[in-house]
Amino acid sequence: REFAEISIKDIDQIAKNSFPLCMRHLFEKLREDHHLKHGGRMQLGLFLKGVGLKLEDALAFWKAEFSQRISMVLFEVGSERFDKEYAYSIRHNYGREGKRTDYTPYSCQTIITSAPGVGDHHGCPYRHFSEENVRAALGKMGITNRAVEDVMDKVRNIHYQLACTLKFEAVNGTSCDAGINHPNQYFSDSQKVLQ
Ligand code: SF4
Repeated sequence: REFAEISIKDIDQIAKNSFPLCMRHLFEKLREDHHLKHGGRMQLGLFLKGVGLKLEDALAFWKAEFSQRISMVLFEVGSERFDKEYAYSIRHNYGREGKRTDYTPYSCQTIITSAPGVGDHHGCPYRHFSEENVRAALGKMGITNRAVEDVMDKVRNIHYQLACTLKFEAVNGTSCDAGINHPNQYFSDSQKVLQ
């Protein structure tokens, strides 16, 4: 599932325009806290690989964020610590370490059935957020009240991927007849609309 290459300098704009709620939430938390726990690093990291972030750019992207955090916490430049603790698992996701498996990004099904714990930001917001938090997240995207209510209706009926599809349609102003079944499909369909 690899699409066109993306570069780090465009990533904030791309996240705003074309990331589904699950990835947008992880991305914003990473920018805010300069940290994500393991489940979040896996979910977002593999998604970014799928949207076309090359290994070298992925290492630079995560290092820039985590180094800020490490500097804040330990008052030291965290380059060594990053290389020791995190770079290995990023290279691993790209199939450059261990068994050299080229790991694929998680599907909606996998994300929806994951079980985020306290302090985790991975998972599917439609499944794992409170109703209030889903509303707040949708509200920030300028979606009309009517569309928000339609999404909430699907959430209450446990149709999380349909909720995501309605959000896609509201944001992109176009129908998505196939429905959303993968965050990277959400991304590529959204990019197609923008082109
Ligand atoms: Fe992400 Fe899929 Fe949930 Fe949409 S339905 S927010 S793409 S996990």
